[in-house]
Amino acid sequence: MMTAKRPAKIHRVLIANRGEIAVRVIRGCRRLGIESVAVYSDADRAALHVRMADWAYGLGAPPPEESYLNIPKILEAARAAKADAIHPGYGFLAENARFAERVAEAGLIWIGPPPHAISTMGDKIAARTLMIKAGAPVVPGSDGPITDAKSALAQAEKAGFPIVIKAVAGGGGKGMRVVREAADWQPSIDAARREAKGAFADDRVYWEKYLEKPRHVEIQILADRNGRAISLNERECSIQRRHQKVIEESPSVAVNPDLRARMGKAAIAAAESCGYVGAGTVEFLLDTDGKFYFLEMNTRLQVEHPVTEWVTGVDLVAEQLRIAGDDEWNPPSLSHAPFGHAIQFRIYAEDPQNNFLPSPGTISTYSEPQGPGVRVDSGVYQGSEIPIFYDPMVAKLIVWGRDRSEAVAAGNAALEEFHIDGIATTIDFHRQIIHHPEFIAGNTTTDFIARHFKSTEVHADGDEPLQQAVAVAAALYTRRRVGQATRVPSDGNGQTTRYSGWLVDGRRRGTDRWPVRF
Ligand code: ADP
Repeated sequence: MMTAKRPAKIHRVLIANRGEIAVRVIRGCRRLGIESVAVYSDADRAALHVRMADWAYGLGAPPPEESYLNIPKILEAARAAKADAIHPGYGFLAENARFAERVAEAGLIWIGPPPHAISTMGDKIAARTLMIKAGAPVVPGSDGPITDAKSALAQAEKAGFPIVIKAVAGGGGKGMRVVREAADWQPSIDAARREAKGAFADDRVYWEKYLEKPRHVEIQILADRNGRAISLNERECSIQRRHQKVIEESPSVAVNPDLRARMGKAAIAAAESCGYVGAGTVEFLLDTDGKFYFLEMNTRLQVEHPVTEWVTGVDLVAEQLRIAGDDEWNPPSLSHAPFGHAIQFRIYAEDPQNNFLPSPGTISTYSEPQGPGVRVDSGVYQGSEIPIFYDPMVAKLIVWGRDRSEAVAAGNAALEEFHIDGIATTIDFHRQIIHHPEFIAGNTTTDFIARHFKSTEVHADGDEPLQQAVAVAAALYTRRRVGQATRVPSDGNGQTTRYSGWLVDGRRRGTDRWPVRF
């Protein structure tokens, strides 16, 4: 027997996603002897996740609404592929409660939390209210969405500037505006509303006191439907650009065993308050006095889950599959302290020299670092096309060392060894960050990049003309590109394809499908 015990109820999982996370879930399935079904848009026919899965099913045109966000098409693919479960990855439909419901209605296992947990935690006001009830510390802020800007300002002024306006349905740092004086209150609300409406089709916003120089520290939890729950240490994700994570690490230099235990307890209380099942993350801000405040709960696997996997030895995808697919779940045993130190670098197809403009195109050279303490979770290979339609993350580099300084050294060496040509990437930007004396010293607060890399920061406030230019450029690029994407060899759109060289004829899985040249 080459695989660990397969969950009793899951034989074949459809992964409603693309890129590195689809590849990651395929690997998790394979280790447990579970078959995987990939779905793909026309822009992703030749993508790595499609090549790696046991089965693959075309969804149609590249825009997300017609492919990775199209619930009927995904359910139809699951039916045709005879999948018995759906893993949503992160992004796309992962935090869509309606999708979770539809999956269950179709008689499939949803590898994620119950729909009501998703919808409660997806509404930041509902989540705050629940946390206050559960006795967890939350950032001081409004009780509900802002309806009357004037009275909200009066309340906010009592809490004191700076204040941050946030989208109730927020995610990815969208719909967020920092306000430092009363004169900016109304314009900031208007701008946040516009952005929230565009991103989430929900223009409700609320306010929180804006903490200065906090660290972003989050706790990974696992919970099952029988009420068992464990926390798996913290991740620090303070290195952010425009409120989006860039580098993540575990453990945090600012967390000692006592604080870890208290934050773990608060995270489990958050999970219990909403009947959480599966893998989830409770995010906190940690202030300079060591006080922590609930920020939000992400009801899915996080991009940065590998750093936790490295310092705990737990395969989080396998645990998700076990929790969803077995009646009884035995939590993995954990030693109390994190084992060594892990750091993750998100490698994006973006040009740091040019305001981090997305840099889609064909990867002409792709050579990953290897060696002790190096893991790469990637969704690409040499010859891959980075489409304009989706998040431009290419790969995640995760490094490990016995302590933080070893991990930083491993990161430096691995970043140097990572070669990607044909598109711009953020590899060199990461190297600059980890060479910075303040990073090396562990002085990592959420304003790190804004403070030390001023030239790379385009502030959200007042850069709308630039954002419009970026949108126009992206639209023009899309028009030029669509024809090319569909020229990739077709295997019959809408057909389920048995895709395994290994199972069919004993050759190594996938080698018969590798392109000679693109
Ligand atoms: P999103 O869901 O859009 O990612 P979060 O609430 O998770 O938004 O916040 C993202 C980041 O924005 C945080 O990690 C932090 O850097 C910053 N942030 C959010 N709220 C506050 C706050 N009240 N004070 C200071 N920083 C904040």
